[in-house]
Amino acid sequence: MKKTRIRLILTALFITVFFATTALTLHEDSLPSQASVSDEPVALATPEEEEVPVDSDEEGYVICIDAGHQGRADMDKEPVGPGATTTKAKVDGGTCGIKTGLTEYNLNLSIALKLQKKLEDSGYTVIMTRTSNDVNLSNSERALMANEAQADAFIRIHADGCDIKSVNGATALCQTEENQYTQHYEESRLLADSIVNGVSDATGCKNRGVTETDTMTGINWSQVPTAVIEVGYLSNPEEEALLNTDEYQSLIAKGIADGVEKYFVETSKEGF
Ligand SMILES: [Zn+2]
Repeated sequence: MKKTRIRLILTALFITVFFATTALTLHEDSLPSQASVSDEPVALATPEEEEVPVDSDEEGYVICIDAGHQGRADMDKEPVGPGATTTKAKVDGGTCGIKTGLTEYNLNLSIALKLQKKLEDSGYTVIMTRTSNDVNLSNSERALMANEAQADAFIRIHADGCDIKSVNGATALCQTEENQYTQHYEESRLLADSIVNGVSDATGCKNRGVTETDTMTGINWSQVPTAVIEVGYLSNPEEEALLNTDEYQSLIAKGIADGVEKYFVETSKEGF
């Protein structure tokens, strides 16, 4: 009986000491790992915190919209690009509808204001080069406004005219890869493609694709991704009649906004 009790006590003691030691060992082991676990989020917190403003920047894109032309042309000359010896009219009169007499500057402004509302409703910050026909802004001055705003995209709205009445549809323009004044070829080409596709999809008009050119002052002075959208032909009676309606102008604005949206999806994917 006595021996058994002593053995039991010894066994109990042994078990107590064993578990106490094991628990202590585990606890000591877990301490450094706990410490390193809790250190890691602290170490990671800094880069994560640094990334937050970048994300919020991406959500707040700045778009500069230029409604082409103005109430009165200014045929004084200005260089076609920074340091250029070639000059062109500061801002010419634009084209005019052959059927209703719709002026390009009025049409461009009307679409630009609709686009402004659409983009602002979607959360974009919009800078307008003009909200009235009664301004005098040269094409280079308009581009400088986009540069000043550090716009993520500069969208210039125009309409076409042509001697051949049957010609119709939307065209986008952007710089060539070799442009000596501005270096945003890839983004500008993507922007131009996205916008002309958006307009064609939204309105059902003919998609005339993208024309690359380095002759436009408003492109050459821009230091941000830039595209011109020629929304249709005022020299085509059917297209002019459509362009003269509020509904068709809203569809164009929707198409441009869709193109802008697609452009930013693509650029964020491709990491421009
Ligand atoms: Zn024009």
